[in-house]
Formats: sequence, structure tokens, C-alpha cells
Amino acid sequence: MSGTLYLCATPIGNLSDVTLRVLDTLRSVDLVVAEDTRVTRKLFAHFDIHTPLESYHEHNADEKGPQLITRLLLGEDIALVTDAGTPAISDPGEKMVRLCIEEDIPVTSLPGPCACITALTLSGMDARRFVFEGFLPRDKKEQKEVLASLANETRTAILYEAPHRLKKTLELLYKTLGDREIALCRELTKKFETVERTTLEEAAEQTEGAEVRGEYVLVIAGRPADEKKAEERAAWEMLSIEEHVALYETDGHDRKEAMRLAAKDRGISRRDVYNALL
Ligand code: SAM
Repeated sequence: MSGTLYLCATPIGNLSDVTLRVLDTLRSVDLVVAEDTRVTRKLFAHFDIHTPLESYHEHNADEKGPQLITRLLLGEDIALVTDAGTPAISDPGEKMVRLCIEEDIPVTSLPGPCACITALTLSGMDARRFVFEGFLPRDKKEQKEVLASLANETRTAILYEAPHRLKKTLELLYKTLGDREIALCRELTKKFETVERTTLEEAAEQTEGAEVRGEYVLVIAGRPADEKKAEERAAWEMLSIEEHVALYETDGHDRKEAMRLAAKDRGISRRDVYNALL
């Protein structure tokens, strides 16, 4: 019988945030694989854990993954941890989970700290509907696409950013999204945890020339839904009913559905649309 892969969430700053289940698992598995063994050794030393430790990170995942699969198939239990927080969330882990699924190897995830959720709960922003973007892509084209989708996004958006890129990212966000509310959540769970609730314009101004230190999560308010609706409205208000229906048809809707959508946009009945088309 094959072993199990345990995804173990570890603290994002405060060591007391580790769960009892994670500690038990790290002690009982045959092997722990870590993003950076030096970081995990500190956790091991603090909690007196002596399980064999090996590395599994972005740069050795293709080679190491199949080796770990062989060990799991032979019955070993393996725990996967990253430097901080929940594995697979902007961290290695995803590939390993996929390999296990392909081989029918049991995978379980031990929940615990995660910077994006901690930041969202502290932000005071709408937490019912949110979108997690992780780090903005470095590739300019991909970055442009993500920013364009965020500009239209009505849900609260959560982003990760490294301190040395914070200023540039805030400038880009302000330039693309306009002025929105933002919560800059810094050094979460640590001694100097701060949450600065401000606007994108002010945040971009404040970081200008300032030395930025510490880890940040950015929580940005979604685009106001009425603003988005007003823009969509402005787009079709220039059209005749016939052109409005045709627009939906070009989007791939059949005529009946296109008429229904146009009627809905205009706040008129389908019969009115039908009559206008006659
Ligand atoms: N897997 C982790 C998680 O569950 O949140 C995220 C790992 S990602 C490589 C690292 C990023 O998470 C940092 O650049 C920062 O944006 C965010 N982060 C991690 N710890 C943080 C903390 N204590 N305070 C604020 N942000 C943090």
C-alpha cells in the first residue's frame, strides 16, 4: 500500500501558529521535504523534531518529484513544507500534488497559516467575494493582462509582493486601476505587524523614495459594481436596439438569448425588443 503525501502549513512569522496536527505529522512521517532545509531546520530545532529532511523546490521539482513518488509508492509517508505558510499557495507543492493524483497516491492538506487569508481578514474589505492573484507576473505581456483583468474586477483582490518591488507595483496598480482603497498588510503575525488602510494614490506616493522592508500582502478593493455597470451601459447606449442584439449575437449567443440580454440591459421587455426588430 502506498504512503500519503501530507501538505503541512507552517507559520508565516509567529512559531506558535503551528498546529498540533502539523507537529505530530512532521514527527511521524518517514521524510519531510522542504523548500529550504535551512529555514525548516529552525522550525525543527524549535519543536525538537528529528525526522529526515530533504529539499524539494522549484528548481529540483522535475527531478525530485518522481523520486518522491517512488518512495510514496513503496509505502513511505512524506510531509511537504515550504518556508512559510500553506504549500502550493505561491509556493512549491502544486506539481507534487498533481503527480500524486496521477499515481493514485493519497494526498491530504493540514490547514494552517496562509498570508493571503490572514491579510484579507484584517483588511476590513469585502471578504465575501475575493480573488487571489499571488505575485504579479514578471513577463510584461502577462502582467498587462492581469492588470487589465484587475481593472475590471469587482471582487476584492489579494496580491503578494516582495519589498524591493513594492514601490513599482503600487505605481503600476495606481496607474491601471485608478484610486482604490488598499490595505498594506505587513509582517503579519510578527512583532511589528502593521495594517495600513489607505488609497492606492497615497500608498504609491508614500513608498516613493522610502526604504521598504518586511513582507507585504496587498488587499485592494474591487471596482465598484455600479461604476462597471455605468461603463457597460455607456457602451451600449450608443447602439440602436438592433445593433445591441447583433452585438450579443457576435459574442456567440443565439438570437433569442441576444434579445433577452439586450432587453435586460435596457430594462425593457423582450416584447419591446422584438417589436423594435420588426
Ligand atoms: N505559501 C505562503 C502562504 O501561504 O501565504 C506564501 C508564500 S510566497 C512565496 C511569500 C509571500 O507571501 C511574501 O512575498 C509576502 O507577500 C507574503 N507573506 C508571507 N509571509 C508574510 C507575512 N508574515 N506578512 C506579510 N506577508 C507575508
